[in-house]
Amino acid sequence: MGMAAERLEVIRAADPDLAAIMERELERQEHTLELIPSENIASPAVLAAVGSWLTNKYAEGTPGKRYYGGCEFVDEVESLCQERATWLFGADHANVQPHSGSSANLAAFMTLCKPGDTILGMDLSHGGHLTHGSPVSFSGIFYHAESYGVSPETEQLDYDLVRARAREVRPQMLIAGASAYPRLFDFAALADIAAEVDARLLVDMAHFAGLVAGGAHPSPVPYADLVTLTTHKTLRGPWGGMVLSKERYAKAVDKAVFPGAQGGPLLHAIAGKAVALKAWGEPEMKDYAQRVVANAKRLADGLIAEGLRLVSGGTDNHLMLIDLRPLQLTGKAVQEVCDSARITVNRNSIPFDQASKFNPSGIRLGTPAVTTRGMGIAEMDEIATLVARLIHHLGDEAVTGEVKKRARALCEAYPLPYG
Ligand SMILES: *Cc1c(COP(=O)(O)O)cnc(C)c1O
Repeated sequence: MGMAAERLEVIRAADPDLAAIMERELERQEHTLELIPSENIASPAVLAAVGSWLTNKYAEGTPGKRYYGGCEFVDEVESLCQERATWLFGADHANVQPHSGSSANLAAFMTLCKPGDTILGMDLSHGGHLTHGSPVSFSGIFYHAESYGVSPETEQLDYDLVRARAREVRPQMLIAGASAYPRLFDFAALADIAAEVDARLLVDMAHFAGLVAGGAHPSPVPYADLVTLTTHKTLRGPWGGMVLSKERYAKAVDKAVFPGAQGGPLLHAIAGKAVALKAWGEPEMKDYAQRVVANAKRLADGLIAEGLRLVSGGTDNHLMLIDLRPLQLTGKAVQEVCDSARITVNRNSIPFDQASKFNPSGIRLGTPAVTTRGMGIAEMDEIATLVARLIHHLGDEAVTGEVKKRARALCEAYPLPYG
């Protein structure tokens, strides 16, 4: 019996209703082409660590300095995870307790700024994240948020424009990193801009942490005051976050995470992070990061060859954005037809989008999860054909049916690792 079946059996004995739902979700993941660039597939070892007895332990504080007894072994778990994180990313200090990327960002804000300070982050519709200054997030509620965007000509960051914005708004903190930006960041330029206006630099590498770990993306660690990340996206670990810092911020970061932003750490999640980080010491993971990027380039080339327009003309990382405006389409209809063919993508705003946030003009897609399943260049060509067929024949049920069969065949050829 495979790992998933064994776990379902344990759950079914206690709660058949929940087991039935979880089984359907497993089937959905097994037979769906997952192209959402923020998702990935955690290894069986990560799942086993997360689903373990470490969930039973309270351990507020940091290793060696806890507010509870009985922490000797979880201290070792957390220290091991920290050592691996600092080793992998070349940071002086790692706080591995953040429950998510947003919690890591909250702690980073609390370390580097005071409420009311001015922050300068990338515009949400140009690829930024809610926690970089959106009025509906703590970052825009408790701080004075200003934004910068991409150049209208290239749809890429123009560092002269970012510098001009920084001179104008004089932020206490400059934030870089994005959820929907298909290009690399120039961290040296960003650090130079921050230094010129006397701002701290926070780099949020939530999306591309795995590419940095595998050497497929430049590292922000030498340049930024703080680096935050998620562990569940390209890094291929359990759901969670982290803050990396220079030694001089170590104490302040630890205080900002607990008691500033969170209560007790999730030791089971920290164990999952430790196993995921260990894997990055192996050559296969370096190779994985390179393949994610090579697959994304191939998929982008395939979509362009099918007559689709990509924001900024392509990709340097793991994701890309299709601009539907030339086809007079919007994202919601395309996302829905992809869903019915069991290809998961997400609709997304694109730079200078006139359409509503609820039904924007872009489709965001990426290669981390399909690459984890083992798909390569030939499969990217097939996926480009399938996505393009759905878009060019929107609403044609015969085409949707045919694409669904071909998508399922790809999934069956590259099963999940839980069997
Ligand atoms: C995904 C993401 C986050 C937030 O992560 P959660 O774990 O969903 O809170 C933060 N910043 C960026 C840039 C992201 O892409």
